Amino acid sequence: TNLIEIKDVHHAYQTANGPLPVLDGLDLSVPEGEFCAVVGPSGCGKSTLTRLVTGLMKPDSGEVWLHGELVKSPRKTVGMAFQNPVMLEWRTIMQNVMLPLEIVAPSMSKADREKRAMELLELVGLAGFEHKRPSELSGGMRQRASLCRAIVHKPQVLIMDEPFGALDNFTREDLWQTMRDLRAKEPFTCVLITHDLRESVFLGDQVVVLSGRPARTQYVLDVTLPA
Ligand code: ADP
Ligand code: ADP
Repeated sequence: TNLIEIKDVHHAYQTANGPLPVLDGLDLSVPEGEFCAVVGPSGCGKSTLTRLVTGLMKPDSGEVWLHGELVKSPRKTVGMAFQNPVMLEWRTIMQNVMLPLEIVAPSMSKADREKRAMELLELVGLAGFEHKRPSELSGGMRQRASLCRAIVHKPQVLIMDEPFGALDNFTREDLWQTMRDLRAKEPFTCVLITHDLRESVFLGDQVVVLSGRPARTQYVLDVTLPA
């Protein structure tokens, strides 16, 4: 069964100059545990797609299903990661990573929350940095921490919108490997939005190519790489 199922979605934004059609036939099927990379040029509606899956927006027509339910309102079970992660400077890295647990699992003990946060921080190579403040870390390290924060509460799906876009090439490729390491330990379903074709092929089990303006699903590549 598919964790995410988007069927023939059409959407136009209402602007001062009239309707701006953005999506014109978007289809996407992501089986549970799979990594789906979505590529397309900037402005083709990739961020709109994340708003649809997170339930922040309803399409003009078509259907968005998450785990067998029609998405109609914002979801807590979706983790998000962005190009410029927002971290709370008055909290340590570990306290930032723990934040989603405080919201979705308030009954969890502080010790268990810390244990869960540390488990992930170790996986991404941030052991020893847990008591630092966000501004004391490099951009790549902050992005690692933000990935931990995005999955700490085990969301049904992690949606990433250009998460590595602001990093230099070396750091970016390190992060790709970190992403793979994380998923080897903890297989979660991912949707990655990127305009980097290499990134999409390195990380994706499937690559969905959007094109046209308004955009539609042009083709879907199945990519299976050795672990
Ligand atoms: P991408 O993430 O691929 O760059 P977006 O989904 O952000 O694309 O936007 C697609 C198009 O829709 C762009 O032309 C953008 O300017 C426009 N757009 C995005 N959000 C809105 C909005 N809330 N109101 C009007 N136009 C929007
Ligand atoms: P229905 O098609 O079943 O009548 P509604 O349009 O009433 O669905 O919306 C169902 C739920 O989705 C409501 O709780 C509403 O608040 C929420 N919702 C609808 N549109 C949006 C939106 N653009 N952003 C956030 N929530 C929305």
